[in-house]
Amino acid sequence: MRQCMGCNEHKPKSELVRVVRAPDGSMSLDRTGKKPGRGAYVCSAQCLTRLRKSKRLEHTLETSIPDEVWNQLEKEFQNDAANV
Ligand SMILES: [Zn+2]
Repeated sequence: MRQCMGCNEHKPKSELVRVVRAPDGSMSLDRTGKKPGRGAYVCSAQCLTRLRKSKRLEHTLETSIPDEVWNQLEKEFQNDAANV
Protein backbone atom coordinates (compact mmCIF):
# COMPACT_ATOMS: atom_id res chain seq x y z
CA MET A 1 0.00 0.00 0.00
CA ARG A 2 1.12 3.50 -0.82
CA GLN A 3 -0.18 6.84 0.24
CA CYS A 4 -1.73 9.22 -2.25
CA MET A 5 -0.24 12.65 -1.74
CA GLY A 6 -3.41 14.38 -2.87
CA CYS A 7 -5.96 12.85 -0.48
CA ASN A 8 -3.62 11.08 2.01
CA GLU A 9 -5.45 7.77 1.54
CA HIS A 10 -3.58 4.51 1.39
CA LYS A 11 -4.28 2.49 -1.73
CA PRO A 12 -2.82 -0.49 -3.55
CA LYS A 13 0.08 0.52 -5.75
CA SER A 14 -1.81 -0.61 -8.85
CA GLU A 15 -4.40 2.13 -8.28
CA LEU A 16 -1.84 4.87 -7.98
CA VAL A 17 0.25 6.75 -10.50
CA ARG A 18 3.73 7.91 -9.66
CA VAL A 19 4.77 11.42 -10.57
CA VAL A 20 8.51 11.23 -11.08
CA ARG A 21 11.25 13.77 -11.32
CA ALA A 22 14.04 12.16 -13.32
CA PRO A 23 17.71 12.79 -12.51
CA ASP A 24 17.83 15.18 -15.49
CA GLY A 25 15.02 17.25 -13.91
CA SER A 26 12.24 16.27 -16.32
CA MET A 27 8.84 15.35 -14.88
CA SER A 28 6.67 12.51 -16.07
CA LEU A 29 4.07 9.98 -14.97
CA ASP A 30 5.07 6.44 -14.19
CA ARG A 31 2.54 3.63 -13.94
CA THR A 32 5.15 0.91 -13.63
CA GLY A 33 6.96 2.36 -10.60
CA LYS A 34 10.25 1.65 -12.31
CA LYS A 35 11.39 4.99 -13.62
CA PRO A 36 14.45 6.38 -11.86
CA GLY A 37 14.16 9.51 -9.77
CA ARG A 38 12.21 10.84 -6.84
CA GLY A 39 8.48 10.62 -6.96
CA ALA A 40 5.13 10.85 -5.26
CA TYR A 41 1.93 8.89 -5.72
CA VAL A 42 -1.49 10.20 -6.72
CA CYS A 43 -4.72 8.24 -7.23
CA SER A 44 -6.71 10.49 -9.54
CA ALA A 45 -6.65 13.56 -11.74
CA GLN A 46 -8.35 15.48 -8.91
CA CYS A 47 -5.53 14.55 -6.55
CA LEU A 48 -2.97 15.65 -9.10
CA THR A 49 -4.71 19.03 -9.28
CA ARG A 50 -4.90 19.16 -5.49
CA LEU A 51 -1.18 18.49 -5.33
CA ARG A 52 -0.58 21.25 -7.84
CA LYS A 53 -2.49 23.74 -5.70
CA SER A 54 -0.95 22.70 -2.39
CA LYS A 55 2.65 22.91 -3.65
CA ARG A 56 3.30 19.79 -1.61
CA LEU A 57 5.03 18.01 -4.46
CA GLU A 58 7.42 20.89 -4.93
CA HIS A 59 8.42 20.59 -1.28
CA THR A 60 8.86 16.83 -1.52
CA LEU A 61 10.93 16.97 -4.68
CA GLU A 62 12.74 20.14 -3.63
CA THR A 63 12.11 21.76 -6.97
CA SER A 64 9.74 24.24 -8.54
CA ILE A 65 7.39 22.92 -11.19
CA PRO A 66 6.35 25.35 -13.93
CA ASP A 67 2.73 25.66 -15.08
CA GLU A 68 3.48 24.11 -18.46
CA VAL A 69 4.83 20.98 -16.76
CA TRP A 70 1.72 20.70 -14.57
CA ASN A 71 -0.45 21.14 -17.67
CA GLN A 72 1.49 18.39 -19.40
CA LEU A 73 1.18 16.05 -16.41
CA GLU A 74 -2.55 16.67 -16.10
CA LYS A 75 -3.03 16.04 -19.81
CA GLU A 76 -0.92 12.90 -19.63
CA PHE A 77 -2.96 11.66 -16.68
CA GLN A 78 -6.23 12.16 -18.55
CA ASN A 79 -4.91 10.50 -21.69
CA ASP A 80 -3.69 7.54 -19.65
CA ALA A 81 -6.99 7.24 -17.83
CA ALA A 82 -8.83 7.19 -21.15
CA ASN A 83 -6.66 4.30 -22.32
CA VAL A 84 -7.19 2.05 -19.33
ZN1 LIG B 1 -5.85 10.62 -3.87
